[in-house]
Amino acid sequence: MYQALLDQQREYFRSGQTLSLAARSQALEALAQAIKKHQAAIEAALHADLAKSPFEAYATEIGFVLRSIREAKKLLRQHMKIKRVKTPLVQFGARSYIRNEPLGNVLIIGPYNYPFQLVIEVLVGALAAGNTAIIKPSEFTSNTEKIIAEMINSTFEAAFVHVLTGGVEVNQALLTLKFDHIFFTGSTRVGQIVYEAASKNLVPVTLELGGKSPTIIDETAKLDVAARRIVYGKFINAGQTCIAPDYIYVHVSVKEAFVEALTQTLATFYPPQKDAMGHIVNSQHYERLKRLIDPQKVVYGGEEDASERYLAPTVMTDVTWDDAVMQEEIFGPILPILTYASLDQLIADMQRMEKPLALYLFSENKDHQEKVFKTLSFGGGAINDTLMHVANPHLPFGGIGSSGIGKYHGMTSLETFSHAKAYMKKSTRIDPKVLYPPYSEKEVKLIRKILK
Ligand code: NAD
Repeated sequence: MYQALLDQQREYFRSGQTLSLAARSQALEALAQAIKKHQAAIEAALHADLAKSPFEAYATEIGFVLRSIREAKKLLRQHMKIKRVKTPLVQFGARSYIRNEPLGNVLIIGPYNYPFQLVIEVLVGALAAGNTAIIKPSEFTSNTEKIIAEMINSTFEAAFVHVLTGGVEVNQALLTLKFDHIFFTGSTRVGQIVYEAASKNLVPVTLELGGKSPTIIDETAKLDVAARRIVYGKFINAGQTCIAPDYIYVHVSVKEAFVEALTQTLATFYPPQKDAMGHIVNSQHYERLKRLIDPQKVVYGGEEDASERYLAPTVMTDVTWDDAVMQEEIFGPILPILTYASLDQLIADMQRMEKPLALYLFSENKDHQEKVFKTLSFGGGAINDTLMHVANPHLPFGGIGSSGIGKYHGMTSLETFSHAKAYMKKSTRIDPKVLYPPYSEKEVKLIRKILK
């Protein structure tokens, strides 16, 4: 059944209907209209699945992708233009070009935390680059999955764009097919499964994965600003954000002052009421998060309501790498705080860890800023802020090492879903004999001279 759908999409792609600038622009516009038409239903689904507030639903999911669609439409002409590049002098009579061509038929698999944005944003790139797509949203957020299927399947022919719903068995079946590209967003564990399955058919992949993203606060940081920006970045979507600060490393000399600023900010941003913050996606994750909390180390938070999967923002201090909370990506509203005394030592320690998806540094010291951003490797990040790099379409977004393979957003999305076909066009007027065998001693000397 899935093979038949892919075959239909192959036929559709081969017919050339996705290729022209007009067709791509039209597809993007149809997507924008469909989103606007279903906006209220999408917001309601996100609320039902994650207790996402209308503000968060619009800012981080619906509005986020509508802006991307506008941006993508503006990029089409530039992306589709055949680029002429230089040709070495020895290749007389030749011109060289790069032509971006769509990859063909792509598979998009999404996670539950931004269940709408993290498949539709990917689709924007796929459509702008002239591909067809099969989408499999996360089954954990079943209301959003349903509305995405309704929205897409009533807007596009199945041979062009189609949403499939269901459990892991649907993903497993799809992963055996020979797509032209698989774009997966989710955990590092499942990323490995996807990579392995894709390798059987040599299908190229983009893997947008997770991990533990650190935040460093040095002794020069403006602590009140840091507290506000960290609370924002950590507790939006109840901490279920791939680039959320997973844990804090604060300089030991400012730890007390920082914890004070942090707890004051939390009391203002998230007064103790359950609708101020999103809820945990399901009881399995809720129970997992509760196991990460050591009540002895909690200095703020602790309220909970299992029936609504609500966990209040929770801050833990005096945390070490032996604590449960440091053994895995937290992906919830728990913020552990560790301290350091020497930045050089901290950098040396971090260089031995897995490369995270994001890293944040709060510091007024330019040497520290340079040192951290020059010596540590991570997907992307910010100095004196959290999360915001993800919202700049001019910055490519993706991980490195165990946090991912490949990048997207803005023009990078169009490039991800295209093959940069490189070719030469040669004049037939001149055809020097020197290029062809048999080669004389003189010609050997000449080639040695030219290519030296
Ligand atoms: P997940 O890996 O559990 O699931 C992601 C998708 O994979 C889902 O659609 C699910 O149906 C599917 N899946 C699960 N098991 C599978 C299997 N055995 N075979 C094939 N498919 C399978 O991830 P999640 O829990 O939904 O999301 C949280 C994770 O995603 C976190 O690690 C987070 O950091 C990461 N994430 C990364 C980004 C990013 O942009 N880098 C964004 C959001 C989330």
